[in-house]
Amino acid sequence: MIDLHSHTDQSDGTFTPGELVSEANRIGLQALAITDHDTFAGYDLARPIADVTDLELICGIEVSTRFGGASVHLLGYFPVAEPTRDFRDWLSFLLESRRDRNRRLIEKLQSLGIEITLGEVERMGRSLTGRPHFARILMEKGHAHSIQHAFDEYLDESARGYVQRHEVPIDEAIGRIAKAGGVASLAHPVRVARNNWEQLSEYVGRFAEMGLRAIEVFHSDHTPENVAFYQGLAAKYKLAWTGGSDFHGANKPLISLGRGMNGNLAVPYEVLEGLKQAVV
Ligand code: AMP
Ligand code: FE
Ligand code: FE
Ligand code: ZN
Repeated sequence: MIDLHSHTDQSDGTFTPGELVSEANRIGLQALAITDHDTFAGYDLARPIADVTDLELICGIEVSTRFGGASVHLLGYFPVAEPTRDFRDWLSFLLESRRDRNRRLIEKLQSLGIEITLGEVERMGRSLTGRPHFARILMEKGHAHSIQHAFDEYLDESARGYVQRHEVPIDEAIGRIAKAGGVASLAHPVRVARNNWEQLSEYVGRFAEMGLRAIEVFHSDHTPENVAFYQGLAAKYKLAWTGGSDFHGANKPLISLGRGMNGNLAVPYEVLEGLKQAVV
C-alpha cells in the first residue's frame, strides 16, 4: 500500500516530517509522497529521515490554481528526479501571494469584530500560514467549536470571512511542473466542476491538452462510483492514476494516513509505477 497525498506541519498538517515518516512505517506503507501546499520544506526535512528506513519517499507539491473563475488544486510529483532550482524559486512567489491573502484575511476578520493578529496566527505555522491555522486560533478564542465549524462560519469560500487569494492560472502551473521534470495530477476531482461529471470530463480534456499527465483517482472523499468514473477519464485522456488520503493530522481528524476515511482507501504500489512512466 502507498499514499501519494499527505501534508506535514510545514504546510497545514499537524505531523512533523519525522512523525509522518514514522507513521508511514508504522502502518507498513511502501511509498509516501509528501504534497505540502506551496513548499518543499516538509519533504526536504523528511528526506534524510526516510533514507535510513525502507520507506520510498516521493517529492510532491500541491498548488491552488485558477480555472474559469474557480479554484482547482493541482498535485505535482517528482518521482524520478528532484525538481529544478527554477521551480523552487517559483514557490517563493506563491508564498508571497499567500502572505498577502493572510494580511487581508486578518483585516476582514477584524472587521467582523474578532480580535486577532497576524502574528498570533503565524506562530501556529512553520513554512507557511494557511486557513487551518486561522481555524485553530478562531477555535481557541471561542469563535468556533471545531476546525470545521470555523471554516463553515468564517473561512470557507461561501463563509463571511472569506477573502480571495491570487492564484496562478492552471495552464501556467501545469507547464511549470512539467518543465521542472514532474508530473501534474488533478487533485481530488470530486471538488471540480461542482461534481458535474460531463463538465468535469470536458475540463479534464482541456487540462490534458495543457500537459496534465495524471488524475487523482483514489482519495478519501471519493466514492466507489467516483473512482470508477475517474478511471474512465484516465483511459479516455491517457492519464496516469494517482491516489492518497490527503492526510492533515489533527486538522482533518477523520482521515487516516494510507487508509483514508473509515478505511475507504488502499492504493496499490502499481499506481506509483504508472506515475513514474508518466514522467517525460
Ligand atoms: P489555504 O491554502 O490557506 O487557503 O487553506 C486551504 C486548506 O484549508 C485546504 O488545503 C484544507 O486543508 C483546508 N480547507 C479548505 N476548505 C475547508 C473546509 N471547508 N473545511 C475544512 N478544511 C478546509
Ligand atoms: Fe490543506
Ligand atoms: Fe487540496
Ligand atoms: Zn491536499
